[in-house]
Order: sequence, then structure tokens, then C-alpha cells
Amino acid sequence: MKQYVFSFKDGNKEMKSILGGKGANLAEMTKIGLPVPYGFTISTDACNRYYDENKKMSDDIIEAIYKELAVLEEISGKKFGDTNNPLLVSVRSGAVVSMPGMMDTVLNLGLNDEAVIGLANLTGNERFAYDSYRRFIQMFGDVVLEIPKHSFDIIFDRVKEANGFESDVDLQKEHLMEVIEKYKALVLKEKGFDFPVDPKEQLMMAVEAVFDSWNNARAIIYRQLNDIPSEYGTAVNIQSMVFGNMGDTSGTGVAFTRNPVNGKDEMFGEFLINAQGEDVVAGIRTPKHIDELKDAMPEIFDEFNKTADILEAHYKDMQDIEFTVERGKLFMLQTRNGKRTAEAAIKIAVDMYESGIIDQKEAIMRVEPEQLDQLLHPTFDQKALDSTDKIAQGLPASPGAACGLVYFNSEDAVAAKNDGNKVILVRMETSPEDIEGMIASEGILTSRGGMTSHAAVVARGMGKCCVAGCSEIRVDESRKTIFVGNDTYGEGDYLSLDGNTGKVYSGQIPTIEPELSGDFEKLMSWADEIRTMKVRANADNPNDSAVAVKFGAEGIGLCRTEHMFFEEERIPAVRKMIVAKNLEDRKVALESLLPFQKEDFKGIFTEMGIRPVTIRLLDPPLHEFLPHTPEEIKNLSEQINVNYDELLLRVDELKEFNPMLGHRGCRLAVTYPEIYEMQTKAIIQAAIEISEEKNIAIIPEIMIPLIGSANELDFVKKVVLETIENVFAELGKTIKYSVGTMIEVPRAALTADEVAEHAEFFSFGTNDLTQMTYGFSRDDAGKFIGEYLETKIMEVDPFQSLDQTGVGKLVKMASELGKMTRPDIKLGICGEHGGDPKSIAFCNAIGLDYVSCSPFRVPIARLAAARAAINQAE
Ligand code: ADP
Ligand code: MG
Ligand code: MG
Repeated sequence: MKQYVFSFKDGNKEMKSILGGKGANLAEMTKIGLPVPYGFTISTDACNRYYDENKKMSDDIIEAIYKELAVLEEISGKKFGDTNNPLLVSVRSGAVVSMPGMMDTVLNLGLNDEAVIGLANLTGNERFAYDSYRRFIQMFGDVVLEIPKHSFDIIFDRVKEANGFESDVDLQKEHLMEVIEKYKALVLKEKGFDFPVDPKEQLMMAVEAVFDSWNNARAIIYRQLNDIPSEYGTAVNIQSMVFGNMGDTSGTGVAFTRNPVNGKDEMFGEFLINAQGEDVVAGIRTPKHIDELKDAMPEIFDEFNKTADILEAHYKDMQDIEFTVERGKLFMLQTRNGKRTAEAAIKIAVDMYESGIIDQKEAIMRVEPEQLDQLLHPTFDQKALDSTDKIAQGLPASPGAACGLVYFNSEDAVAAKNDGNKVILVRMETSPEDIEGMIASEGILTSRGGMTSHAAVVARGMGKCCVAGCSEIRVDESRKTIFVGNDTYGEGDYLSLDGNTGKVYSGQIPTIEPELSGDFEKLMSWADEIRTMKVRANADNPNDSAVAVKFGAEGIGLCRTEHMFFEEERIPAVRKMIVAKNLEDRKVALESLLPFQKEDFKGIFTEMGIRPVTIRLLDPPLHEFLPHTPEEIKNLSEQINVNYDELLLRVDELKEFNPMLGHRGCRLAVTYPEIYEMQTKAIIQAAIEISEEKNIAIIPEIMIPLIGSANELDFVKKVVLETIENVFAELGKTIKYSVGTMIEVPRAALTADEVAEHAEFFSFGTNDLTQMTYGFSRDDAGKFIGEYLETKIMEVDPFQSLDQTGVGKLVKMASELGKMTRPDIKLGICGEHGGDPKSIAFCNAIGLDYVSCSPFRVPIARLAAARAAINQAE
């Protein structure tokens, strides 16, 4: 028959799924001979059976519990409900992964009117016994009977006041007895039955309450947020009580074996003398630093230190420990791997490797890639944050902290920046026109748009703080005003944005620059040795390229050429080119852009050296480059000397119902091949010049976007190849290069074997591929994805983490088809997913050669790729 109840002697730390985390570790500590108050665990299987049998404890499980209870009585020499020597227990919930929202612990269970006398006799301390009793009724009443805690507090405070006492400890036996009687009356009134006096009945009620709490609203929400399956169930631990509240030789505390904030190898924790349970964390009394235990209880301090060392060596990880001292004897009540900051995680992993406790692979597995984000961006001074209230909450679209003066358009932002100010750009939503303003600002705030809105994507790319979709504020761009609640903020007012939390603050909050430690470098170098996939960055300019190289990028996976078009000096020429009436005029405009593009590429090649650079030819629809308001159009008409009506007509012509599926990507080059000709020329000339200048061999990778068929690629590629031949002929020089394509239209993925005939590499543009596979517009999905996640139609936002079953299937299939045609085809990914650890693991599994992500995510991707390689080898 299946075992549902396990004594602490029966279990070990590997049995978390059956015993829950707390139970498994209590058993493990018992096994290695540490002083753990004896007890037993009711398994998660019992919890699941409880639900299977319509929330009824089956007889065989009840019997097994009583059997273990008898053992517990025998070992402790005490008896449940006994007038002379009563056994008291704690009932502690313990899920497989620790889970706030579950039932709280009940202490001192087993007390009743008889047992309390026994406890008083046994300890020679009546006050203590009756205080324990009234605490028990209160705790049981609150967590098991679900009577509001404050109903008990009111009773307690009335008795306290009626007697004129200042402090809880002033209440004597007779006062406590009065409290107890009133508590019991409250239970009868609230529940319609007497407070249970039979300890066994108390126990069963508490166990069922733990099981019930597995499905309370808080627990369900927590599980949803953290992807914890509801089938896990929770275990219940029944453990004999030890008392930290028996006078000055008793106490209780919690401690970490290392500093969880900075990772230093020093004990970190707190304790209280003469206290029980959660008094330490509850903040009723101010606890003392653990080091002071040395003076208060020198022998206990030594023993605790030794025990902590044993535990850390045993688990080979930093431990978070709970302990209690009862009349000079130390008891261990809990241990688990402690939570820590990124800084601490890195230091502890490196230190543990260097002292031979763990190997390099284990060290790498100890640091969560996502955590690194904390280290790579400026942050707010925590102290300052603690004393400030947010004015609004948006989406944490791009991490970091930013503080500056508010401006409402790109032009004003750039001007303010040039005057030496720090700037926050506030927009309803951003568009490519805002790029310069975004570059000029410390942070970006939008009232609309989701985690993959233009503002979010571009800000992440720049490593700039961004709070997007902050619908609590209303932005009036024309009046240059933010409305939030009853307040308004205008141009030049200070705002602070926290991109890690999505919070917006009024005024200035000081920021701290990130500093990367030597330990960080060490861990990253181990990751680099282990990983097999390369990591590149998405970068459009020399500056971002330099940042990417600094963070360890091995190349550029996506250089978007359109961003270069928006700069002030160039946009008139770009616009001239777009509104040109004929080929001739267009060519003239393009000719004037050529030197700019060439300089851009030369700058990037200079930064990148021989690292590969994939340059994507023009991708966005042309109307994105044009002004839209009549006033702006009028200005432009004067600026470029084109008749206003004619210009208006041209702007109108370029409008599309569905620009994302419209005239963009390689489709532009089918109609206007001269655009790609100019860009190709610029790339090849730049590569030749820098190769000569630096005496290296730059091999540019030219990438054609938005291909849907092999024929389309063939057509556009011919334009590129012809141009290259012309440049070679003109200069009398040649270099190596490669031409490939993005796979972002589902049809291209489906026919990847044919497409590969013309492509030396594929780069999966998974933003567009997700958009087109799901048929979700990237710019509008923010409005409804939230509901999809809430209703569990979707587990994660497919724009954040690659949808492996659907979109991923296309990626995998296209990779395989591509390799069939061209075994040495180079495969990479350049969508936002290239920086997402889960998606990176997927890319590793299907054999991509590299991932490419924003420069600030490069370290995250390096670590994630190493962890993927380790996991895959196992
Ligand atoms: P949590 O999961 O919230 O930490 P625990 O089950 O660890 O809850 O219980 C909270 C606290 O109750 C413990 O830290 C400890 O101080 C106290 N406690 C639990 N069991 C016992 C026990 N058998 N004897 C004395 N104190 C206990
Ligand atoms: Mg605990
Ligand atoms: Mg695309």
C-alpha cells in the first residue's frame, strides 16, 4: 500500500515532490544528525487524495497519522492532551516550491484546559503556559477557523486596558485566563461550535486547513504567476514544539550562511531572546544582529556556527536557516537554499568554485541569466526609493533607472539635451520619428503600447530605461501636459522612471551606475568556454557596437539601416528620395545619402573589426519617414522645394491600411531597386576601405528582409550582386561577402529549402514571424494579450518568449529544410527572443549557430547559452 505519512527518519532531501521542501529538508537534517525536534510529514499524495475524495480525509491516512503520532509520543515521552506532560506540536504547511499564500503555521497545538495545567507544572511557569494557550487559540482561530485576527486583538487589548497595563507581558495568569474565556466565547459566536478541546480533533482540523489552503485565492494566483502546476499539492509537517519563549536562556532566530545582498562569506541574520515563532520577522520587537548572539549565548553561538557550516557544506549552497533555543539547547527548525541578489549569486558561485565546493558548470547553473539585468543598468538608490510614493504604474518595458526633465517631442528633447539637461521623453506612443529624441533622453515614458511596442523594443535595444503602456497617465502632446489623478506635469518638470518595476515617480531620485565585478568577468569567461552557440548583438551605430563588444558580443546579428535615415541631416534627403516623381530624381536623392550610409558602416566596421556584421537592407514602409500633419507637410514642401499639394498627394498615396503587411522589406526593392543599390554600394565601399585601413579582411553579410519566396529573393539578390560587381569593377578591388535573408514570413519558412538556394544564411526575424504566424499585430496585441494570459489561453506573451510549439516549429523546420539544400548554411535569430533565456535554450536545441540580442542583454544570452549547453549535455 502507498505510504502517505513519513517520519522525519524516513525521508531525505531528494524527496521534495512527496514531502514538500520543508519536510524533505527537516528529514535531511535529522538524517545527518542535527538537533531537529522530532516529527513527521503527511505527503503531497495525501493532499491530492484529499481532493480526489471530495475533501475528505480517508480512514487509512487518518490511521497512519495516529500511528506516527504514537511514535512521536513515545520518543518525546509526552502525551497528547496530558495533564502532567502534554505533547504540543506545530502544524506547518510545506509545498514543493516554497509558496507564500499558503496556510500559516499553527504553533502550540494540543493545548486545552487540562494540558495547559500540565505545561504550567512541567515548566514551573504558569504565565508562560497560559500565554501559550491564548496564542494557540488566537492562531488556530485565525488560520484554521478563519476568524479575523483583529477580533482577537480587540479582546486582548480590552483586557489589557481594563487593567491599565502598558505591555503584553504585564498580563498575569488570571488576566490570560480571562482572555482565553473570551476567545472561546468569540469562537462559539462566530462558528456556532465550541473551540475543539480534543488535540486529535485540533490536529485533523489543522491538517485539513493546510490542504484547503492549497486552493485559496492567494495560492492560486501565486501558482499562476510562477507556473507552478496545481497537481503538485502541499505536504503538512507535524513537529513537536520547542519553546524559545521560556526566559532569557531561550530565543529564536533566522540566519543566512552568507550575505544574501552582496554574497560575502559572513553570517547574516537576526535573533530575539525569549521569543517564539515569527516574532523575529513580525517586527513587533527589534531583533538583534546574529553576531550579538556571541555575547548573549556564547556556547549556542559556536554550536550554531558549526551547524550552519555543516549545512552549507552538505547542501553545497548558501542556506537560509531557522532555529530556536530552548533553555540553553539549540534546535534547527528549517533550512533551504537562500534567495539572493544577482551580485550575491555571482560572488557565492565563484567563491564556492574557488574553494572547491562546486565545479564550474554548477557555478554557472547557480546564476539565473535574467538576474544579470539587475547589474547592467543604473538603478535608483534603494533608500531614496523607500521614502517615495509612485505617481503611476506602467509596464517595466526596459530596465534601468532614469531621472530627468519631461519633454513631449523629439525635437524639444534633443534641444534640452543639447542645453546640457537630462531628459525624459514622454509620448502617447513612439514611432521611428522619435528615435533622436529617444537617443537624447535618459528614459522614455509612454501611455500606450505593450512590452513589444516600438518604445519598448527600441529602448531595450538602446539599453535605455522605458516605462510603456502607463495608462494611468494621460498625455496631451499638443498641450505638453501629463494628467495623472488630480495632478499635472508639464515641460521641464522632473520625473523619475524605474524600468525594473514600471513605476513612475515625481521629482528627482538619485541613481547609481552599475559596476561589473571581477567575479562577473570570471563567471562569464567560464560560460564562454562551455557554450557552443555564438552570441551577437543588434546594433545600428558605432556607439551601440562598442557597447556590444564591451559586453562580449561576437558580432552583429542585425544592423538596421533605417535608423540611420532619421538623423537630422539626412531626413530631408530621405524624404526627397521618397517623394521623387521619377527614377532620375530618386537617384539624385539617393546619391546624396550614400556618403552618410558609408560613414555609418565604416564606423561600425571600425568598432567590430573582423567580427561578422549582418546588415539588413531597408525594411520599414516608406510613409514612416514622412511627416503627417498639414503643418509639417507644409514645412517639408518648403524645405525640399516641392509643391505642397503634390506633396500632400504623395503622402496620401503612401498611406496603407495595413502597413505591417504592406509595401515594405524586399518589396520596396522590387519597386525601387535603386534603394538597395545605394545601400549595397555603401556597405561594400565601406568594407573595402576599412579592410585596407586596418589591414584586416572584413566580410560583410548583406541581409534581405521580408522574403516570402525563392523567386523574390532571387530577384532582389541579383540587384545586390550586380551592384557589388559594379563596385568591384569601379575600384578594381574585391572582397569576400555573403548574401542571405531573414526568415520572417511564414511562406519563407515553409519553402526554406528553395529559399536556401539563394541564401548563404538565414536569420530568423521572430518578431515578424510571430506576428504573421499568429496573425497578431505587434502594435495592437498589447490591448488583448493581457486577457489571453489571464485566461490561460496563452502561457506567455509570444512576443517575449518564443512560442516553441508553433512559431518554433516553423523555425526548426526552416532550419532543417535550409540545411538540406545547403549543409553549411549559417543560422541565427535576431528577433527580441534572441535575448530571452527560454528561447535561447530552444535555439540551442535546434542547432542554430548564434543568437542576436540587444547589447545590454548580451551577457544574459552568453550565460543562458552556456546553461542550455550544460542542460543539453545532461
Ligand atoms: P514559514 O514557512 O512561514 O517560515 P514555518 O513552518 O517555518 O513557516 O514556521 C514559522 C515559524 O514557526 C518558524 O520559523 C519557527 O520559529 C516556528 N516554529 C515552527 N515549528 C516550530 C516548532 N516545532 N517549535 C518551535 N517553533 C516552531
Ligand atoms: Mg519558516
Ligand atoms: Mg521584420
